[in-house]
Amino acid sequence: MKIETKCLHEGYSPKNTEPRVVPIVQSTTYVYDSTDDVAAVFDDPTKSLIYSRFENPTVMAVEEKIAALEGGIGAMCTSSGQAASLLSILNLCSAGDSFISTATIYGGTVNLFAVTLKKLGIECIFVDADADEQEIEKAFKPNTKAVFGETLANPALKVLDIEKLARVAHKNNVPLIIDNTFPTPILCRPIEHGADIVIHSTTKYMDGHAVQGGGVIVDSGKFDWTNGKFPEFTEPDESYHGTVYTKAYGKAAYIVKARMQLMRDFGCYPAAHSAFLLNLGLETLAVRMKQYCINAKKVAEFLDSSDKVVSVSYPGLKGDKYYDLAQKYLPDGSSGVITFSIKGGRDNAVKFMDSLQLASNVVHVADIRTCVLHPASATHRQLTDEQLEAAGIDGGMIRFSCGLENVDDIIDDIKQALDKI
Ligand SMILES: *Cc1c(COP(=O)(O)O)cnc(C)c1O
Repeated sequence: MKIETKCLHEGYSPKNTEPRVVPIVQSTTYVYDSTDDVAAVFDDPTKSLIYSRFENPTVMAVEEKIAALEGGIGAMCTSSGQAASLLSILNLCSAGDSFISTATIYGGTVNLFAVTLKKLGIECIFVDADADEQEIEKAFKPNTKAVFGETLANPALKVLDIEKLARVAHKNNVPLIIDNTFPTPILCRPIEHGADIVIHSTTKYMDGHAVQGGGVIVDSGKFDWTNGKFPEFTEPDESYHGTVYTKAYGKAAYIVKARMQLMRDFGCYPAAHSAFLLNLGLETLAVRMKQYCINAKKVAEFLDSSDKVVSVSYPGLKGDKYYDLAQKYLPDGSSGVITFSIKGGRDNAVKFMDSLQLASNVVHVADIRTCVLHPASATHRQLTDEQLEAAGIDGGMIRFSCGLENVDDIIDDIKQALDKI
């Protein structure tokens, strides 16, 4: 199946007289014929369903679909993108370990890695995503267990050279984890470029309608966990009656371990109804992503031509710093998100934002409706103008998330707001 077809048909194939649409299985628990049957499920939880903190048929249909879209062998949904980032690391690192992350990643992930994981004794070593391989390699320590990066950084819109990071990670015998939230598997499939684990905030384009939050971890099944660096995969798990994950589950060791240890203990599994809504978003994902890219490119070109705009970041735009990398990793477009800076700084940016009529001012991105955010007033509000500059954000910067309205209406709205400045 091609990817458009997978969006509609993977994960659920109804049999004779069964519902056409993935049913919402609203039950926390499952029935067994005998105590022996229950015991057998506890021996191998992948054989059947135990309890809704681990698995639910509606959620599993979505997991199977997303795994197929990314080209992975398995996936596990979580209740938020943050939970997916957290568990993707905790499945590899314990107190005393470190991992490497590129510095230009989603702000919430920076905080999770730099502050909260640090409190748990796990060190995140940040590197410049644009640095060369030798430079990135210097960051490795004997206790380094993973490399993490974001395909298309939110909100910096830097395109990651995934193959470069995969080479450095694999040379050092650790997996590469990629946050692929903005491109979605429609625009980029990081596993094809060497990523071992892919995560998403499904709250963004995958859901697309701004109706529920979620996350997912996808396992490529390609990493060799028996290379000596990952004893938790190759030695008996006493918390699960001595299971050796690589022996019992082979290529699926990572994703089964994540479910059996971390989902069991943290319990951040989504509700069936949320998965049902996410599935509706996934069904139209391919169509939507293509249109976001068409709209955003036109909007980026318009902004680029305006004398009230100082700079525009959109990797699909000729002349953008990341244009060449975008041609390689995002040949079909670089999503609907654009960042740009208004001449005159903070005051003019605020005036522009407040003059928009169609685009709404929300703390969200990647919605079907056009939305905007002024980082200096919202996500980066606590910073002074000097600190903002150091963080690469100027007071005039706006994150513009193109929706699926007619692009002429989006541009007209921008025009009239720019005229108010
Ligand atoms: C929003 C976002 C997250 C966090 O996801 P939530 O669903 O809000 O927890 C992680 N990564 C990226 C790139 C994001 O945009």
